[in-house]
This record gives sequence, structure tokens and C-alpha cells, in this order.
Amino acid sequence: MPPGAATQRGAEMAAIESVLHARRSDARIADWLDEIDAGALDPAGQAQVREIRRAFERARKVPGDLAARIAQVTSEAQGKWAAARQDDDFAAFAPVLEEVVALKREEGAALAAGGDIYDAMLDDYEPGMTGAALDRIFGEMRPVLVDLRAAVLDQPMPKGVRGPFDEAAQMELARRIATVFGYDLGHGRVDKAVHPFSSGSGLDVRITTRTSAEDPFNCLYSTIHEVGHAAYEQGIDRAYLLTPLGRGVSMGVHESQSRIYENQIGRSRAFCEWLYAQMTDAFGDLGVANADAFYAAVNRVQNGYIRTEADEVQYNLHIMLRLDLERALMTGDLQVADLEAAWNDRFAADFGYQVDKASDGVLQDVHWSVGLFGYFPTYSLGNVYAGCLHDALRAAVPDLDDQLARGETAAATGWLRENLQQHGGLYAPAEIIERASGQAPTAGPLLRYLKDKFGTLYGV
Ligand code: ZN
Repeated sequence: MPPGAATQRGAEMAAIESVLHARRSDARIADWLDEIDAGALDPAGQAQVREIRRAFERARKVPGDLAARIAQVTSEAQGKWAAARQDDDFAAFAPVLEEVVALKREEGAALAAGGDIYDAMLDDYEPGMTGAALDRIFGEMRPVLVDLRAAVLDQPMPKGVRGPFDEAAQMELARRIATVFGYDLGHGRVDKAVHPFSSGSGLDVRITTRTSAEDPFNCLYSTIHEVGHAAYEQGIDRAYLLTPLGRGVSMGVHESQSRIYENQIGRSRAFCEWLYAQMTDAFGDLGVANADAFYAAVNRVQNGYIRTEADEVQYNLHIMLRLDLERALMTGDLQVADLEAAWNDRFAADFGYQVDKASDGVLQDVHWSVGLFGYFPTYSLGNVYAGCLHDALRAAVPDLDDQLARGETAAATGWLRENLQQHGGLYAPAEIIERASGQAPTAGPLLRYLKDKFGTLYGV
């Protein structure tokens, strides 16, 4: 979109939202829902009604003019965020962010109806999740991750791979890896874009990835990540197509699929055996001696400012920082004017060095500009869920490593499809993770996995 079109786009988004909101909150929906005898429906029918009622109740709580105003302001704010990030100028973004925060607080209060505003926001992305439950999960994770990070960074850093790596060859390998992970190119496609992304559902689920001549893992692991999201959408029972059950059930469960594909499977020692051979074929000498050194390079832990580039050890610390700041913004304990300083102080305290510029700090993520408050924690919940699923997957497929070393993921992806993906929105997030993994979700399995993996890699 041309930069000058932002205001017009905002007005268009507001007009569309007004029409949608009126339909979503139409009082007749309440009558229709009341006429349904849920007891006469099968479990899928009951779940459909549950989801329709949920969407209706949500829409009804938010006034139409507020919904339209949010659509308008967040549409405009996104462009202002992009420009401010380009210029490393938080002050240029702060006024519109203040508007977004005020509107989202108003929406949160309407949704919470006297309850906790942040809980109401979480519910949009992770139904059933609460701030108190997040405090318990993150409270268990934080000390373990802080200690592991300190121990690992105290060790010599493994060698990285050495390029340059032909970008067309990266895309060719990325497409092949997507197929290896079961991505159906008859109902999807892989394209290059600024940001890796997965979009769509059912019969049309597309992904983007990006390339960097120096860092082929950016492309390959972004692809595997997005394939995890896409495989979830593609794996949902076709009987749910274009119904409320025909989408991933929550952002956290969605992220569990992208993470287990990317990390527990894609960054495993076994899969690195196969990937090392493929990359050597495609690019020649990688600058690392063997598959062991390649595995160490893939899983290198190093300092960095950027969440999306963070390794498995440090990623969740980036999320905890955002969670605490956005929660304080929503409760009014933190003002937008103080946000950049609060970010920089917290970053220095958690990571031990100073943020060098706003684009490496408070301006790095698009989320707040588009009104996504309550979304960040779902990334870490995805990691937690992936840890639970990984334990169950290993138990169900005892020779998984032998298969992955041959580049065969069918047993792993088949297990995930069978136990989780096919159900779409049938079960609530915590329920589907418990059904698939045999345990209520906790951080224990993820933390054990991280301590094992990085303990072995770094001798700590
Ligand atoms: Zn993701």
C-alpha cells in the first residue's frame, strides 16, 4: 500500500468493521441460539454452537462505534509504527500508541464486564487462559531459563556456518523441506516476503519465508515454523471446512505446532544429520566439520535483541518482558510515555546489556501497533504445549530419531495430525493438549527438554 493511503485505509477498515460488527452482534442470533436443543447434537455440533455463542457474546459486549474506531486507529498506527521503526524514533510512534492503548483498555473493560481486563484480552487468543495461570507457568520457567542462559553463555560459542549461500538454492531447499514435513502444495504455496507468515485455512493455506545470503537457517527454520502452522490448518477434518471449528483452536495451540516442527523435530540432532547432508549437497562446504558441529551451529545460543531471532533458551525471556509491560499498560500502571525507558531498563536487567536503538528494542514488534495485547504470551504457551506434545510423541514413536535422521517426518507429523490437528476447534486449548499428551499442560516437559539438550550441547 502506498504510504499516503493509510488514512483512507483506516476509514475503509472502520466501515467494514461496522458492517461485520452489526452482523456479529445481531440480537436475532441470541434467539436462534436459544432455539437449539444442544443435547440433541453430536459433540461437533455442540462445539459449533459453543463457538458461535462465544463469538456472539464477545461481539455483543463491545459497542459498534468502539469496534470501528479500533479498526481505524490500528490500521493507521501500523504504518506509523513502521515509519518510526525505520527512523528509530519511539517519540514519533508514542501519540498513536497512546490512542491504541486507550481504545484497547476501553474494549478490555467492556469485555471484562467488571472482571480482569487482561484476562479478557487473553481470552481472545487463548480461550480459558488467565493472568494468574500465566504467572504460575512463567514463575516456574523463569528461574530455570535464567540459570540455563547464564551457564550456556559462560561457555565458548560454537562455530556458525560460513556463506554466502545462494538465495535461489535456499528457496529450492525450503520448498523441499516443506514437502518433507507434509505441507500439501496442492493446497498451499511458498513465497518470499519481508516477514515469514502463514495465512488461510482449509483448502488454501499459504506461507511466506525470507532469505539471507549469510544465514541460511533464517530461511530454512522460518519455513519449517510456518509449515507447522500451515500443516495444522491443512490437517483439520474437512467436515469442519468454513465452520467455526475449521480453524486452529487458539494462538497457543497453533504455536505449539510451529514450534514442535521447528525446534523439537527440526532442530533435533537426528534431523540435523539429514539436513547437514542436504545442505552440503546444495551449497558445498558449510564451514563446519561434520553433522555434530552443524547441530551445534543450528542451536547456537548468543546475545541478541530480537525476539524472532532468539534461540530456544532465551526466547521465553523475551516474552516475559513483553507480558509484564503490556499488562502494566492495560492496567494503567505504565504510561506509553514511559514505555521505552521501561523496556530498556527491563531488557538490561534480564539480558545484561543495553538496547542500542529503538528498532532493536520497543519498536521491534508490530503487535502493539495493531492492538494485539494479550497475544505475546501465546508464543510461550506454544513452547510449553510443544514440550508436552514432544514427550508423548517420543513415547508413541520410539524410533523417531532413526526416522528423522533419514529425513522422514511422516510418523511425527502423522501423530500430530491424528492426535491434535484434525480436531480443529472441537476441544478447548488446554483440553486438546491434555488429550494429545496425556497430561494437563505444564512447563515441566519443556524445561527438562531444554536442560537436557543445551546441557549436553554446552557441557553444563
Ligand atoms: Zn508462529
